[in-house]
Amino acid sequence: MGREILLTLLILLFGGLVMQPLALLPWHPLPDTSPRVAERRAWLQLWLPVLPMFVVGAWLCGWALREPDPVRAHFDHGMLIGASIPFALIALRAALRAAWVLVGAPVELPICTAGLLRPRILFNPYLARALDEAHVHAALEHERAHARHRDPLRIWLAQLATDLQWPWPWARERFEAWLEILEFARDDEARSHGASGTDLAAAVVATARRSRSVPRAGRAGWVLGGDAALLGDSRSLQARIARLLAPLPEDCGSAACAGLSDQTALALLAVLLCGALALGVAFGNDILHPFFLWTWNA
Ligand SMILES: [Zn+2]
Repeated sequence: MGREILLTLLILLFGGLVMQPLALLPWHPLPDTSPRVAERRAWLQLWLPVLPMFVVGAWLCGWALREPDPVRAHFDHGMLIGASIPFALIALRAALRAAWVLVGAPVELPICTAGLLRPRILFNPYLARALDEAHVHAALEHERAHARHRDPLRIWLAQLATDLQWPWPWARERFEAWLEILEFARDDEARSHGASGTDLAAAVVATARRSRSVPRAGRAGWVLGGDAALLGDSRSLQARIARLLAPLPEDCGSAACAGLSDQTALALLAVLLCGALALGVAFGNDILHPFFLWTWNA
């Protein structure tokens, strides 16, 4: 069998076998902390079940670097292909849904931040005319916070990670909980940038009224088509409005309190993947060839 085809099958099989049990991990309610910290923690929790799949993939790539093409080991082709098919179908479904967002028509929302690489704020002029200047300013600050953090890209990636954990409902619960905390965090950031909580609450209510007629994807489908909106997917609009009308909670404000920055997390991930790649180069054959022999004799 060709090396690259075998590598793909092994990544699907071992990656799926590692990720699916981890997707069953229960969702632990986050302790009462600032939305900024809670959002970072919830974001990392979304990726914990997927991370081992990347590590296994890097380890297998390390093995493939030293393996001749085609692979000469004896193994049961049928068993390997058959065992990989369920995970291949899940990956294909996730990829198609992610691609659909990129090529599909954008969801029409009164105000949202769209664009994966260069986020831009879209503001329905009819909504802008219906709002006071202070309300518009508050709504724009909320969307600017989404744009600063590249939330459309993060939502798109998070939905992709959630779809890879299909069909377990806990993965979607984690995703929806993160979306809700994300809105709280962006509300607080907008207020710390000068937006009034009362004005932002008024803008949220006006947007919610206007959004009633806008068709929304169901809870099982794509929530916002990758866009970060003023309303988000908040299931508790009342709780959000109450938060906005209350004084801005004191945030620790330091980067250390918010946990790892995206740059630090990516650097750690790169180190982890390079380590897995090196281990694959050094010990890949010692583990995979007995596995091939086992499938051959089974
Ligand atoms: Zn929002």
